[in-house]
Amino acid sequence: MGLLKRFALAVGVGFAVGVIWLLAYTPVALPLLPLLLGHALIAVVLQTVLVVLGPRFRGPSPLLLGMFLGFVVVPAWMAPFHDGGFLGGAEGYALDALAVVLAGLFGVFAGAGISAGGVWLKRCVVLIAVLLLGLAGSGYATLSSFGASLQPRAVQVMDDWPDTPVAVIGLDGADWRLIDDLIAAGELPNLAGLIEQGRRGVLRSVEPMYSPVVWSSIFSGHYPEGHGLVDWYRADARNRKVPMLWDLYGAHGRRSVTVNVPGSWPAAPIENGVLVAGFPIPGLVTGARGQMAGFVATTDPDEQGFLTTEYLVEQAPDRWTLDVGLALPNLRPRMSGFKHALLDLFVRKQMLAVKGTRLELDVERTGDRVTLTSPTLNEPIVLSEGDVSPWFRVPLDDTDARLRIHAIEVSDARLALYVLPPMQTPERPRYPFVTGMDDPSPLFRESSPYIVEGLGWIAHKDERVIDVVADEILDGVTEHLYASEVLLRSGFPDLFSYIITVTDRIQHPFWPAYEPGAYSALPAYYASLGDRDPVLESWQLADEVLGTLLSYVPDSALIMLASDHGFLADAEAGDGDHRSDGIWLAKGPMIPTDAREIEMGAADFMPTLLHCIGAPQAQDFGGVSHPDVCPTVASPDPVETYNGSPPSSGATEALIDSSREEQLRSLGYVD
Ligand SMILES: [Zn+2]
Repeated sequence: MGLLKRFALAVGVGFAVGVIWLLAYTPVALPLLPLLLGHALIAVVLQTVLVVLGPRFRGPSPLLLGMFLGFVVVPAWMAPFHDGGFLGGAEGYALDALAVVLAGLFGVFAGAGISAGGVWLKRCVVLIAVLLLGLAGSGYATLSSFGASLQPRAVQVMDDWPDTPVAVIGLDGADWRLIDDLIAAGELPNLAGLIEQGRRGVLRSVEPMYSPVVWSSIFSGHYPEGHGLVDWYRADARNRKVPMLWDLYGAHGRRSVTVNVPGSWPAAPIENGVLVAGFPIPGLVTGARGQMAGFVATTDPDEQGFLTTEYLVEQAPDRWTLDVGLALPNLRPRMSGFKHALLDLFVRKQMLAVKGTRLELDVERTGDRVTLTSPTLNEPIVLSEGDVSPWFRVPLDDTDARLRIHAIEVSDARLALYVLPPMQTPERPRYPFVTGMDDPSPLFRESSPYIVEGLGWIAHKDERVIDVVADEILDGVTEHLYASEVLLRSGFPDLFSYIITVTDRIQHPFWPAYEPGAYSALPAYYASLGDRDPVLESWQLADEVLGTLLSYVPDSALIMLASDHGFLADAEAGDGDHRSDGIWLAKGPMIPTDAREIEMGAADFMPTLLHCIGAPQAQDFGGVSHPDVCPTVASPDPVETYNGSPPSSGATEALIDSSREEQLRSLGYVD
């Protein structure tokens, strides 16, 4: 074969590999040219090396097999390991590269062997290659289900689990200093009632003081190294090394309902229970600054703000176009299991463009009103200044987005709209977050979607929207409560766990409104808040939610409240921040009313709860129980462990994806 022919063959083979991946990813519509040229270039380089290597490698077989194994089979093989959370970060991709090189080399040498060997050898090698490709598909299916079932199970340690009903209610970021002040001011009647009838103390947080990390300690009895969610980047339920409280209930045949516990996504199947996962959960939009913060669209050409400002494109007097980026397509190839790890990475890092869904709205101003229309909208949206539109639904390729728009200003001088971040529809979510129900749709209201993690609070730094930000964050609670009430109405479960996160989400941005004296000077954007104190509003709301939840709890129940950390003013940053001293509170027939406060660590919460209901301690708990919380209860002999999973090798590490990282950024947690 001449040199020219050899390289023509290489280009052809490279194109063919590119076409294979293009076909596999057709629904995502990857750009054709980089795919074809990239693979053709690789094939030409490989062919050059083969030509240099010598005559044994110059036939078509080494090139064909090298390309096929290295660039079709191996990428497909590696994808499930990334998806399952077994590979991540730079090491993961280095391992990919190594696998590609090794498989490519193997293919080259096998190809050289074929050229030298007989027809049966050829058949055998081709058969092996095809088998490997098939296995890549089935491996994907197995591993992705394995990823979900990876979360540890609990073992049954007693025949009759204590039948005391238990309610664990979390108040994210609650601090006795604030609660005591508000109660003294006559606020928080439901919380005050619980304190009066029970007993309380300080719950020391754990480091790092992040919600998913600390709540995992509270619900597992382990410190972060023990439970596996050690920081933000590992705030993924697949990293759990130990069962959670609700797993213990499931293992003993008891029913649990768990709502909004941070660090519980992705929701694994749990025994005898329903779990509605908490944050962090991937969002629909990636890339733009503050995925969860939205943007401001305006007609004022000089306008700037903390949020991204987009300019309305004028079509005619009083008519503009508003372009809203909704979501990147889900990276779901046509054939389930046939995925390319590197292509996925390129798309996620936006190095390879894909067709994202956009919504084009016609904006028309008539007097002091603005009308938004689009072919995908059922009816036009009419807004006056200050109005927030209802949630409207926009179809995406594999799900729907829910969106709302706030009219900041509608005047002759300026038109300004706050486009809130698009959220997934709970009825048809891209990232399912409910487990334990065949059909979770009764948990959700059509008019107002359940949002696992709503608007990112850093949006408060934009004075144009600071007021709306408070409203939107406060709003999210209503749907969490609605879903819980649907679940509670069919009878109180053996264990009910619910975390009120709105307190933390509001305290971060709005602490200066609550404690202005702690700040020497406030950033200018707080001026737009006026006299409002969203922190007080969030606590009034939290107390209302608490009251509603308590109305479902039977008198015989043990009620335990906890916070993952306390809260204080961060004078330097101009907002609020975590401090270690959080709260715990207990009320029940076994809890004496006692003014003496007991201090415990976050990992002591669950051991203490188990003691109070008469369930055994586990010797492998990181925390200890505080029997003096309920001194009359006799503790049964401890058991070795509740953990029904083999000890983890520590190799499984599910890192959060870029979309969840964006979410944490918009929540102000990571820079
Ligand atoms: Zn926080």
